[in-house]
Amino acid sequence: MSAKPVIVWFRDDLRLADHPALHAAVSSGRPILCLYVHDEQSASPRRPGGAARWWLYGALDSLDAALRKYGARLALLRGPQEEIVEALAVNLGVDAVYWNRRYDKAGRDIDARLKKSLGSRGITAKSFNGALLHEPWMVENKAGGAVRVFTAYWKQACHRLGDPPLPLPRPEAIRSFPWPDELAVRAVSPGTLGLKPATGPDWTQGLAETWIPGEDEALWRLDRFIAGALRGYATRRDLPDAVTTSRLSPYLRFGHISPRQIWHCAKLAVDTGRTQATERDLDKFLSELGWREFSYHLLYHHPDLGAHNLNARFDAMPWRADPVALEAWQNGRTGYPLVDAGMRELWASGWMHNRVRMIVASFLTKHLLIDWREGEAWFWDTLVDADPANNAASWQWVAGSGADAAPYFRIFNPVLQGERHDREAGYVKRWVPELARLPPSYIHKPWQAPADLLRDAGVRLGETYPFPIVDHGKARERALTSWRATAHL
Ligand code: FAD
Repeated sequence: MSAKPVIVWFRDDLRLADHPALHAAVSSGRPILCLYVHDEQSASPRRPGGAARWWLYGALDSLDAALRKYGARLALLRGPQEEIVEALAVNLGVDAVYWNRRYDKAGRDIDARLKKSLGSRGITAKSFNGALLHEPWMVENKAGGAVRVFTAYWKQACHRLGDPPLPLPRPEAIRSFPWPDELAVRAVSPGTLGLKPATGPDWTQGLAETWIPGEDEALWRLDRFIAGALRGYATRRDLPDAVTTSRLSPYLRFGHISPRQIWHCAKLAVDTGRTQATERDLDKFLSELGWREFSYHLLYHHPDLGAHNLNARFDAMPWRADPVALEAWQNGRTGYPLVDAGMRELWASGWMHNRVRMIVASFLTKHLLIDWREGEAWFWDTLVDADPANNAASWQWVAGSGADAAPYFRIFNPVLQGERHDREAGYVKRWVPELARLPPSYIHKPWQAPADLLRDAGVRLGETYPFPIVDHGKARERALTSWRATAHL
């Protein structure tokens, strides 16, 4: 057997199980070099925001630790990925370079160029699907483009493509390629990448209290979710005050777990009665994985999803420049308790419940009439699960400019949403503690509470908690007027 090594180039797939590129490399019997390139200059990946950088640090550390249990290590290099991968492959005289695919246009272009240049040097470059249930091009409309309605997309995916392939096992052994000196000298540790804030207050404490990046944690969370919150998911998933969803999004984002693992594990648990979750719970949960697929399908067909309205009519939308309102939204000081709770949860933990994400996004784009791209950018910086497909597609969905979007005239009333989904106000009490002593009947609209109730609860509006920065009714009318003018252009 030739001792020429294979490079497995890790990207957003920081795990060992169900890793098609690693699996193929192990099956080849060749020695393996596990590589990660931290590249902040190329157009892909988009530079991660602060919270995702914190996550990446832990993720790389954890992958390296997992590899060391096999007697292997992660070669972490810093610099331009194309040059590094090609030079390394040539200098080490490798047989092949394997990687799992990415779907942003700039990333695809880099990968296509690399395949070509490696091929021209006699080095095999092979790519695999490690991120999605099905490739984004496997569902299409009659013209070969994107299907823009989720139900039609999901129907095609489920009926025509069926269950995704079974996940691949974690390797039994990894034949590690001994690092030559040249590599040992260049390899860096995650601590040298400047991923964690070096100066100023340590804002990452809340992230560290909430999350442990890595594959083992992802599998443990999946197990716990299946044994627990999957039951009732269909009816309870909109309640932000309890753990009613899997909270696997950052683990999917960094590829600590694959959607195929989740799909098959959840299905098997329901089929074998390991959970008392119903078929309805299961279908609802799997369809959320479907929304993730749909977002990638959109990104694949519309590479500028994060920058341009899918519905070009929205190009004429008279978005307002209002830095004061934007800052109030970012800081969770809008005077609408559910919105503020969500924005503070985001800042403190790097995550926000899906229902609340929709409400805060609607508030920004409709009540404040601020461009969805401002919100997308803030989420990009603060979410640990900030994802190039999900974030952009979801913002456009809420703003009304996206595929299968929520109609613009559907404007969430943050008070009613709070009363419906946070009835006992546990969520608001946790994240907006200055209102915690108000009764649930007033906590979502403190400005309507009688003066003595406010006084007894220690709330001084305008001092301890802001008055609403906009009036719901007037803001709603302003948004509708702007939208009607745009829609008729
Ligand atoms: P679960 O309910 O347990 O769902 C399982 C998985 O399905 C999730 O982990 C996620 O990967 C996927 N999923 C669930 N809901 C959606 C959805 N609506 N769209 C796409 N995929 C979904 N999700 C991200 O992963 N990254 C983002 O950057 C992101 N930005 C968002 C921005 C806005 C404005 C909105 C409204 C939603 C955004 N979402 C994003 C989607 C969704 O809110 C999160 O995926 C979900 O809250 C994650 O929680 P969970 O893992 O407990 O989800």
